[in-house]
Amino acid sequence: MFSIDELRFASKFPFSATSRQVLKLNGFELNRVPAQVLKKAVLLIVFAQKPHKKAEYEKFFSERQIGSSDLLLTDVQAFPVAKILLSAMNQPEFFDRFADLFARQTFFYLSLESNKETLLGLANEMNSKAHPSSKQGFFAQVALTDFLEANFREDFMKLVNQQLDSGTIFLNRNDFCRFLSELSRERVASSLPVSLENVPKNFVDVSRQLKEQLAFRKRQEFDFKSLGSVDQDAFPPCMAKIYSELLAGQNVNHPGRFNLATFLVAIGMPTDQIVDAFKGAPNFDEKVTRYQVERIAGHGKAKYSPSSCAKMREYELCVANCPVTHPLQFYRNQKQGAKTADAQSASE
Ligand code: SF4
Repeated sequence: MFSIDELRFASKFPFSATSRQVLKLNGFELNRVPAQVLKKAVLLIVFAQKPHKKAEYEKFFSERQIGSSDLLLTDVQAFPVAKILLSAMNQPEFFDRFADLFARQTFFYLSLESNKETLLGLANEMNSKAHPSSKQGFFAQVALTDFLEANFREDFMKLVNQQLDSGTIFLNRNDFCRFLSELSRERVASSLPVSLENVPKNFVDVSRQLKEQLAFRKRQEFDFKSLGSVDQDAFPPCMAKIYSELLAGQNVNHPGRFNLATFLVAIGMPTDQIVDAFKGAPNFDEKVTRYQVERIAGHGKAKYSPSSCAKMREYELCVANCPVTHPLQFYRNQKQGAKTADAQSASE
């Protein structure tokens, strides 16, 4: 059986080959998943769906490592169960956030790791060949092709800023941890959705309830009415760009139009004004546009919401590197900042 250190490794990095071995050798079966595993899987999904402060992430990750072998095994088993629940929910933005949680978790644990072999071993467990650096002043080296599998968002990690020599990238310790963290994001994201064949009925029921619960929470979080009138100056750069392109009569692609419409609905812009914004678009049809906007608005209960920043990047609609994970979060922060400034100047 597995030692406590192996179980700890598997629970820290549940996408690893060790974790898969733990599941296999412990006879993990979907139709005999204990209630506490299902509960942990739900907790993981719920926690992943909301951005947190750094200290909250750290607390969440640290607490997961305290406990007996049984608790660690519960963690390992919760990962594939969470993936099944997410797949049944079938909301791609949930996949991104789930992958983001594990990228953060990977970076957190690796930064604390004192054993060099653990870092290099994890790379190999994710099918990426990493070796101790043959160059002085670096921690590890990876083949360029492996390095490119990690889709870096930070400019300082992009290829142009790396030490490249004959098809090999040389990384310092911190950048190597970042590389593994981004690789884990890619591995988790690309493993979703999973097949739902032979999934027990109670999983489907739990995922339906969870989906409703998260949709309700999102509606509450994004209740922008309390933020006052719509303010174009508070638009995130991506939405400001699409909005001005439409007003200028440029042809905006479907994801761009859909995301702008869902964004405008979410921040409380009246339907007539949204329809007006689309008037300059080539092939504008007022009846069709109004129908689509009303459908998005869902008669006062917004049925759709704009994509997360991660998804916007995939659509190539992201135009800046804002410190948020969702365009609506940017708008809310701007509006709340403006409100605080107004209140301060009124009291002066
Ligand atoms: S980071 Fe997010 S909010 Fe900022 S431009 Fe990109 S998608 Fe929009």
